[in-house]
Amino acid sequence: MTLNLFDTYTREVREFVPINQGEASLYCCGPTVYNYAHIGNLRTYIFEDVLRRTLELNDYQVKHVVNITDVGHLVSDADDGEDKMEAGSARTGKTAWEIAQIYTDAFMADLERLNIKTPTIMCKATDHIPEQIEAIRQIEAKGMCYRTSDGIYFDTSKDPEYGYLARLDKEGLQQGARVDQGEKRNVTDFALWKFSPENEQRQMEWDSPWGKGFPGWHIECSAMAAKYLGPLFDIHCGGKDHIPIHHSNEIAQAHACYGTNLSNYWLHGYFLQTDNEKMSKSSGEFLTTTTLIEKNYEPVSYRYFCLLAHYRSDILFSWESLNSAVKALSRMREAYFSWNKGGVASEAYTSKFKAYINDDLNTSRTIALIWELIKDDNVADEDKRATVDLIDTVLGLELSEWVPATAQQAPAEAVELATRRQQARSDKNWAVADQLRDELNEMGFEVVDKQDGFELNKL
Ligand code: AMP
Ligand code: ZN
Repeated sequence: MTLNLFDTYTREVREFVPINQGEASLYCCGPTVYNYAHIGNLRTYIFEDVLRRTLELNDYQVKHVVNITDVGHLVSDADDGEDKMEAGSARTGKTAWEIAQIYTDAFMADLERLNIKTPTIMCKATDHIPEQIEAIRQIEAKGMCYRTSDGIYFDTSKDPEYGYLARLDKEGLQQGARVDQGEKRNVTDFALWKFSPENEQRQMEWDSPWGKGFPGWHIECSAMAAKYLGPLFDIHCGGKDHIPIHHSNEIAQAHACYGTNLSNYWLHGYFLQTDNEKMSKSSGEFLTTTTLIEKNYEPVSYRYFCLLAHYRSDILFSWESLNSAVKALSRMREAYFSWNKGGVASEAYTSKFKAYINDDLNTSRTIALIWELIKDDNVADEDKRATVDLIDTVLGLELSEWVPATAQQAPAEAVELATRRQQARSDKNWAVADQLRDELNEMGFEVVDKQDGFELNKL
């Protein structure tokens, strides 16, 4: 079965054909670590995780690279304004390096809370300054950049294909440029290297052939992607806001440095919105996984909520729709929990599942398919379980990890005793099983055996 993906570059759903057979190289733009990731950002990482898992389902060995932007991302996309890291430092009184560490750790916790697989490689911009300087040198050698008083800029007029990804109307943009483009030659030109301000000691700055300063945001991605995946790799992802600027600029840099388009497929996740406004770090409601936990939501319910929509449509967040997702997930878990292990996946459902997910990651149809399966009396319960186990390798809801609330409320020691007792029973070690039941009773719990698993009730 072929895997088909919508490629923003060609604006077509295309069959995925990897560069190397059996392998898939995937680069996803990661977080700017100056604040927590909001659940809008996390929607993009959930989509990318589903993509990775789908590639794995199709037997590709995936090399998944995510960068950590810890320098160079300016508050304004027009290459001026403060560096987000230095602004975060001013906001909190911590150093830019401390800020980067705090929010990188928070990001890792987010990935775990949402069952997002850890990328194969996570690379920080500040650990790759020489690679970025080298890339800028190559652009300079091609005569595709120039110096202004505040930095080295890419001359987008030197790349005839500049902006194709976004179908940018370059002339219209140039004519309509109302903002002062300063010393920039073209409105779409962007910084490759910014000089440190004359009378200011920046926390993050490096020497370079052009003067002390720091790299622009776009060069880190093309330089690190090429380092870890090669100058042309399979798939590059990000949120849809990256199409007109960040990814267009990465492609221009790759044209200059490597003579490639950097990636063969460009995939973009659409936005999570609140009240018809995109959720952003500066506007709208700023919700994080910690907000969800504080309001007694399991972050995985948010994952379920995201999977209900196609990644190429914007979704509107509301607490009502999150509540519906919570209810649906809990009904799905209960159905799953009532089934025994030991079945085999239904062929009919497996092939439908693969057809849906390989059709540009249709997660909502896949979820609908699970509900169809739950209601289907012609499939044996244990086979339902085996089928859903397979589907869940892509959806990542971790249904098999779920423990009913009654057991969750019991202390960890009680759950551990009950788990050991279950093992003893399956080993037919009745004496040990009975002894563990007594110990549980002494702790104040009655263990009730279920079809598969147990429940712990307070005595
Ligand atoms: P940032 O940390 O701002 O660099 O963004 C991290 C990722 O989140 C990028 O891929 C963005 O395109 C994406 N993103 C930003 N805002 C949203 C949103 N409201 N919904 C979905 N994705 C978003
Ligand atoms: Zn990037």
